[in-house]
This record gives sequence, structure tokens and C-alpha cells, in this order.
Amino acid sequence: MTRKLGMRGNQHLGLCTYGLYAYDSVWLLARALAAFFKQGGNISFSKDPRLKGNGGRLRLDSMSVFDGGNLLREMIFKTEMTGVTGPFRFTSDRDLYRPAFEVINMVGTGFRRVGYWSNYSGLSVVPPESLYSKPPNISSSNQRLHRMIWPGQETDTPRGWVFPNNGRQLRVGVPKRVSFQEFVGQVAGDDGDDMFRGYCIEVFTSAVYLLPYSVPYKFLSFGDGLKNPDDTDIVHVITEGVYDAVVGDIAITTNRTKMADFTQPYIESGLVVVVPVKELSSSAWAFLRPFTPPMWAITGIFFLVVGAVVWILEHRMNTDFRGPPRKQFITILWFSFSTLFFAHKESTVSTLGRIVLIVWLFVVLIINSSYTASLTSNLTVQQLSSPVKGIESLLASNDPIGYQLGSFTHNYLIQELGIRASRLVPLNLPEDFVDALRKGPRNGGVMAVVDERAYMEVFLSTHCEFSIVGQEFQKNGWGFAFRRDSPLAADLSTAILKLSESGELQKIHDKWLMRSACTSENTKLEVDRLELKSFSGLFSICGTASFLALMVYFALLACQYKRHYYSNSDQSSGGGGGGGTGGSRSGRMRTFLSFVDEKEESVKSRSVKRKEMEDSRGSSIGGGDASSMNGSY
Ligand code: GLU
Repeated sequence: MTRKLGMRGNQHLGLCTYGLYAYDSVWLLARALAAFFKQGGNISFSKDPRLKGNGGRLRLDSMSVFDGGNLLREMIFKTEMTGVTGPFRFTSDRDLYRPAFEVINMVGTGFRRVGYWSNYSGLSVVPPESLYSKPPNISSSNQRLHRMIWPGQETDTPRGWVFPNNGRQLRVGVPKRVSFQEFVGQVAGDDGDDMFRGYCIEVFTSAVYLLPYSVPYKFLSFGDGLKNPDDTDIVHVITEGVYDAVVGDIAITTNRTKMADFTQPYIESGLVVVVPVKELSSSAWAFLRPFTPPMWAITGIFFLVVGAVVWILEHRMNTDFRGPPRKQFITILWFSFSTLFFAHKESTVSTLGRIVLIVWLFVVLIINSSYTASLTSNLTVQQLSSPVKGIESLLASNDPIGYQLGSFTHNYLIQELGIRASRLVPLNLPEDFVDALRKGPRNGGVMAVVDERAYMEVFLSTHCEFSIVGQEFQKNGWGFAFRRDSPLAADLSTAILKLSESGELQKIHDKWLMRSACTSENTKLEVDRLELKSFSGLFSICGTASFLALMVYFALLACQYKRHYYSNSDQSSGGGGGGGTGGSRSGRMRTFLSFVDEKEESVKSRSVKRKEMEDSRGSSIGGGDASSMNGSY
């Protein structure tokens, strides 16, 4: 609703604006009359010749017209003045110059101003005269009013009171399902009406509730109640004008979108392959399953190698690693395998030995925990009892495939995947699914069932002997179908998005479809064996550490041997006696090996003694006291 605004559009005047405008009008008339008289006009009246004729009866000839009317009108249109409501003049077309209005919102018996309208700026929340200085901008984004209050104290713009459907209820077709009635199921209604309940129905009613107008509707069932109706047929009925809409588990497919307008999908559901599975039988050798054979071999070899390396590093300084050869061999084996349980009793005393051991214990820790984890999952794993691994295996074989009667799956498998129609077996009830899958392709059953994930999740929640294999190979969603160009499709899409964003859609899903009895979520269909390559990094770290430790050890040993050898040869040449060093190559090797085998402590104490003896010999030579110089080798 608008009311005329004075040129200045005083926003505080409210109702008074009219009074001041009248004042301006009187002032305008006075100005025009003054100009009129100035132009020589005088006030006289004469008979209007146009009113003559057969007006005798009406006495129209007695009527008079104002002679100066034209002149006065001209004067009015020429008048330019500034009244109390602002500048006032007319355009050359005799329109008011820059007319402006207030836009008011009637609320009960009062009103509130929600903005202005002017020729120049269109709708705005600021007075038009403040916009005259700016370039005109009547783009829709610039057209703004303050928030309206609608009847019922609503601030959302009403879309009308009732969805216009020629005064009758919306006829909503619903498939009369005989299976998976969690989605759509018929219940006895009052007065013989068709009543439905289920996930799809609750999503529809909740979405309709969110519409800004009311939509009276009635459900009409479709199908004979003996088998699931073909959903493409029910959508086709819309085109015949029997239904205005179809609500149910209707997948949005290209074919169907050619016949009706669909809402946004309210649930995702693609096609999956379901096959029988069986528990993997526990065998006596199940404990070997976690690792591949190369992994077992390399792990065993590493146990022995690390045992040997630690023995080498410890042998010269640790009595635990000394003794008769047989005992030492057993020590190596015992030590290395007891590290598997961190139960080795032999202490390591050399720094290099400790380094190698700590790296190895870390490797053992990882191997241990991986083995435990893998064994646990291997013992609970299920195994496919059919060779089908996904849709690819089905395409490659010639075995029968089950599908749900009435579903678009039939056409999809034939037209899109090129599967022969003779391979497809229609199944009506979940019991038929079970029966056909159990029998298998050799006994008149099916190799696998292809159906939408939504149904299969419900099915598998109570049938643990079957499982989904491979990926979902076709993606689709379910929506509500409406007649072409029906505004309800768009409005319900918005409502579905609102339901989804508010979390309501998920709640409805959980209420109808959430099952916890037996889910296929935890079913692992592949036996994952831990391979050598997953541990190659660990083994190379440990191998490198052992190798470096050995290198350092032998380098130190060589230095020590050199010192020992030369001091011995000095002594033998100086003392004239053989120190067991030997002259030949094999003799030298024997000496080296016996040196390596010898306890480091005794080598050290011997060299200390020798040093003392050398010192005492030096002093006795100096002091003239000769004594025996032979060492105790
Ligand atoms: N959701 C299926 C479809 O849209 C219907 C399945 C059925 O009724 O069997 O085709």
C-alpha cells in the first residue's frame, strides 16, 4: 500500500503528511490564480454550448462553465514553488515532477512505513531525494524494503493460502509395495481411504509441512498388492492425468524424468551386487595366515642374523656369550628367538651390541603388533562362497542374476550393461532373494542379486550369510514425481533440502531404516596378508645398523690386534723368544682368530703386565738389574 509523499518525504510526519500536502495544494492554487489575473484573466461564467441540445428536460442549459478554466489550468501547470513538503512542479507532460510515495505496511488498525517508491529510484529504504544526487539504479538487487509483517504476525512472505489445484485435493499415487515396507507400506485407513506409512511417506509429509502454504492431498495406491508395482508405470500414470504426483521409493532415472518433474533426491541409492559369504573355516595353520611366506622367511633369517651379530659383538667381553662352541651356538639361537617375547636373559655389555639389539627390539615390536592385529582380523574374516567379486565378474560370466521385480534395475542391466534378458531372474520378496542365492546358479538359483543399496542394506541387516561385493556401480537417488512444470516440485525440493540441513532427514532415516542386528560393515571379504614389502624399511634399518656395528667392531678389533701383534713381535725380536705370533700366513690367521676369540679383558691385562715388565726391564737395564722378560701368553 502506498500514499503520496511530499517532495521532501519527511519520514517523521506520518499521518500528517496528508494535511501538509493539502496546505501545499491551497498555496499552489493561490499562486496559479495570481498568475491568472496577471495574464488578464477574470472570473466569469458562461453557458457551455456542448451542454445544449435535448437537455431541456435535464436543464443542462442552465449549467455554466468557468471561462478562465484553460488559462487557470495552464497557470497551475506552470507553477513552480517550494511548499512545506519540498519543491513542487509539473513536467512538460503535465505529470508531477519526480513523484514519490511512502510504502506502508498496514498492521491491524495502524501502519508502519517499510520504505519508499519513486520513479527515479524504484523501491528503497532511504528517502528518494537523497538518491536524486546519485545515478539512477533500479536493478532488482537494489530494490529493498524493510521487513513486512504479514497477517498472523508472520515475517515470511506468504505464497498464498492453499496450493491452487482447481479447488480439489492433490492426487498422490503411491506404489503398493509387498516387500521392504519400511520404505512404503499400506495401512488400513479410515473410511476406506488409502493410508501409507514408511520412510518415503514420512519424508513427504515432513516436507509438505515445511511448505509456506497448505497442500491438501490424498494418497491413491497403485498396484495389485501381490507383487511390487513397476515404478516406471506409476510415474507414467502422471502423464495420463490420473495422479498429480507420485510419492514412494521412486528412483530418478532419465526415462522417468522425461515423464514427470522430480524433486531433489531425499536418499542416495545406487546399484550393488549381493552374493553369499561363509565364515572362513579355522585351520590348524591359521596362525601362519597373517604373513606371506617370504615375510616369514626373512623374519626367521633376521632372527638368526641379529643373534649372530650380537654374539660377535659381545663374545670378547661378555661371559654370557662365551663357553664351549656347542653352548655358544645354543646361546645364539636362544638369545635371538627369546627377543621375540622380549624375554632374553643374556645381558649385552658392549655399546655396539646394545645399539644393534635396541634397533632389533623395535623391529620385533612392530612385527609382533602387526602379527597380532592381522591374526585377529584373519580369524574373524568371512570368505566369499561365490567367485563374484563385483559387477565385472557378473558381466564376464553367463550365470543367472536376480533383480527386484518392478525395479528399474531390469532395464538398466539390459540397456546399459548389455546383459541378456534371459539371464535376469525377477525376485519379489526378500525370502525369494534368500532362496535364489542359497540355491546358487547350478540348482536353479542365481549367482548374485543386483539391487539398490537402500533395499540391500535393510536386507543384509537380517541376513548375515550374504554380503555386498565390489563398488556401487550406478549412482542414483529417490525423489518425488510431479506433473511437468508443477511449482510443487521446486518448492518440495527446497523443503527436502531444509529437512536435510536441519538433520531431520537423518532422524527419519534412522527411525525407519537403522538396523543393528547384523551389518555387513565389519565383514572383510579379502584375506589381507602382511607382505614383506610393508616391512622392508624396518628390515633395512636393522640390517644397516647391524652391518655398521660389525664394521666399527672389526675396525677397532683390527687396531687392537695391530697393537698387540707389533708389541708381541717387538718383544719376541727383542727378547729372542717367540710370543706365539707365528711366521707363516696360516699361523698369522690362527693368531688373529685366537686373538678374536680371546677375552678382551685378558688381552688388556696382558698388555698392562707387559708394559709393567717393560718398564721394570728398562729400569733394571738402567740400574744394572736384569730380570726375566717373557710374558705369560
Ligand atoms: N526403487 C525402485 C525403482 O525406482 C523400485 C523397486 C521396486 O519397486 O521393486 O524402480
